[in-house]
Amino acid sequence: MELEADFNMLTSDKFRDECGVVAVFAHPEAEKLAYLGLHALQHRGQESAGIVSSDGLNLHQHKAMGLVADIFTEDVLSRLRGSLALGHTRYSTAGDSALLNAQPIVVQSNKGAIAVAHNGNLVNAVEVRGRLERQGSIFQTNSDTEVIVHLIALSKEHTLPEAMADALRQVEGAFSLVMMSTDRVFAVRDPRGFRPLAMGRIPALEGQTRDTVVFASETCAFDLIGADYVRDVKPGELVVVGPEGITSQFYAKAAPQSSCIFEHVYFSRPDSRVFGRAVQTSREELGREMARESPVEADVVVPVPDSGVTAAVGYAAESGIPFRFGLIRNHYVGRTFIEPSQSVRDFGVKLKLNPVRSLLEGKRVVLIDDSIVRGTTSRKIVRLIRGAGAKEVHMRISCPPTISPCYYGVDTPSKNQLIAANKSVEEIREYIGADSLAYLSLEGLKRACGEGPQISYCSACYTGSYPTNIVDVEEILPAAVRR
Ligand code: SF4
Repeated sequence: MELEADFNMLTSDKFRDECGVVAVFAHPEAEKLAYLGLHALQHRGQESAGIVSSDGLNLHQHKAMGLVADIFTEDVLSRLRGSLALGHTRYSTAGDSALLNAQPIVVQSNKGAIAVAHNGNLVNAVEVRGRLERQGSIFQTNSDTEVIVHLIALSKEHTLPEAMADALRQVEGAFSLVMMSTDRVFAVRDPRGFRPLAMGRIPALEGQTRDTVVFASETCAFDLIGADYVRDVKPGELVVVGPEGITSQFYAKAAPQSSCIFEHVYFSRPDSRVFGRAVQTSREELGREMARESPVEADVVVPVPDSGVTAAVGYAAESGIPFRFGLIRNHYVGRTFIEPSQSVRDFGVKLKLNPVRSLLEGKRVVLIDDSIVRGTTSRKIVRLIRGAGAKEVHMRISCPPTISPCYYGVDTPSKNQLIAANKSVEEIREYIGADSLAYLSLEGLKRACGEGPQISYCSACYTGSYPTNIVDVEEILPAAVRR
């Protein structure tokens, strides 16, 4: 039991990813492209996935708990044939009701069948849901996305795009949505642009009369399906792709942009472009900024794999200290394992990471990671590195201390579990057992991620200052409904 808790702590002592969405318009194998897109977005959510396709007349769906590769067999995909498709991969807190909340959500409305897939979190979902329930709406799930679906279905507007715009004006928070009717695909971002959503294009195949239009949370999905990045869906924009072509409208007044800076620090893949900027560039810059802000005399720069790797490359390049893979990650660790009868210290961490003694022995090590959430894992990793003979361990974190939870679609622990909300940097250093500890400054973070006239970021989890009104959903809703 104790070892299992130790292992679970290792896997949970990170911010949880959120969701990934993908949409395909006009391709003879749309369901397969959606499937491949979800593969590329698997890092954004590993607990459930779903695909809905349209053959022009009807929507067909399949959703299940688990990983994309396990859920969608040849047989399942053959039942999802269509030329339009939506896909969703989701992180949620595991629980019996989780499949109920898997997406895309499909509903029949007086405007026809609609499928919706959502990345983000609404901050006024409880309030709007209460109002709708008092008016007689019956909810099938406890997901905030269903609020949007009901608002669309109840809208008095006559066309689907107008009904969507009407619904979206009534919700607040983070939403990058892809939606589908039997003959159209819709893509939307909230007016602050919290979560990414990009549009791409695949040139028409021989015999096809039009290009395929695709949308995805991250552009790494485009690379896998051979799509070219066209542009981002803009904050507050509703893009409609149908037989008439591509149209676009801004359904709400522009709000100050608050794109999630943590997408660049941790969530998005380094080979993606999010908010119009290459993640690799930002992440390497984070390392360079850290090296300038918090230099230290050392022999090697070692990343905590995988998320610390790119920042460590930047730190090494700027400082001139050699980069080494001093920690090797076992990528094949599952949730079940046989524990030794003699308890091994830090067994859970050792299952996943192993220090390379020949690189670390007698060395002064700069250890690079992207965050410290509860501090328990960092403490174990520092102990591992020392156990492999390192003389000194200097920890560098590629963002400021995380002091507040996220309400915009990232599963963070509550404030009392965030170590930086409760301890000073010196107290954290002492707790994790490092010789020195430094976080990147907020200014350094924003500079590294290119904040300027083109883009401005949300950094509320580092400042506690939120860009929207916040109702503390943690106190009202079970964690399973948050994305
Ligand atoms: Fe991103 Fe943090 Fe803002 Fe949440 S609070 S959207 S994790 S920057």
